Amino acid sequence: MNKKFVKNELLREMEAEFYFRVENDWRKHEEKRNFSKTEKDIYEVFKPSRKMLLNKIDEWEEKGKIAEEEIIKKFNIINKYNDNLSDFDRWFYKRLIYHLYLPKLLNCIDQILRIKRLLFYTLSKAKQSYGSNFQDKIEIARNKPIIDIASNFLDLKKISDKHVALCPFHKEKTASFYIYPNTNSFYCFGCRNNGDVISLVMKLQGFDFKQAVNYLN
Ligand SMILES: [Zn+2]
Repeated sequence: MNKKFVKNELLREMEAEFYFRVENDWRKHEEKRNFSKTEKDIYEVFKPSRKMLLNKIDEWEEKGKIAEEEIIKKFNIINKYNDNLSDFDRWFYKRLIYHLYLPKLLNCIDQILRIKRLLFYTLSKAKQSYGSNFQDKIEIARNKPIIDIASNFLDLKKISDKHVALCPFHKEKTASFYIYPNTNSFYCFGCRNNGDVISLVMKLQGFDFKQAVNYLN
């Protein structure tokens, strides 16, 4: 292998990493300014990051798993000493756990969704089978408020900036299915089902991707 090749290869890797990080910062910045670009626009600008995307999903899933285990571990401690704790203590410690550890987990989920959205545009197969009309429909579908859709199927209760319900994907008596309007996504702490508004419709209705997008338009 010649030196020039290795150098070029390294530069390409770093360029991909660079674009991947800048895309994240840029998106946060744009969100603050309430400036809306479509995922397609974003992908066009940050194309070089596509090399990283699959690895990055694995990385964030790994981080998410650690964050999730952290939460479960803390809950197990509460359960273990359940008899020695007052109602207030239990309430307080649970709040504390959510406050301290949940943001980390939610950030991992956000990152994974963000990468999956970018990834979608890198799949040339998807581009061929769906015309540009359908690309627009996907954007519309993704931006449908998840609360509006979920409330057709579930009995939602609002808790500060999120909504909670009994999970439609596993049997439970206390609600652990959370919906986050800020990121238009859902997460179940019981069965770990999660995703965006399109995947919610796919799972609830048994639709494939295309059917779910059409349903949301
Ligand atoms: Zn569940």
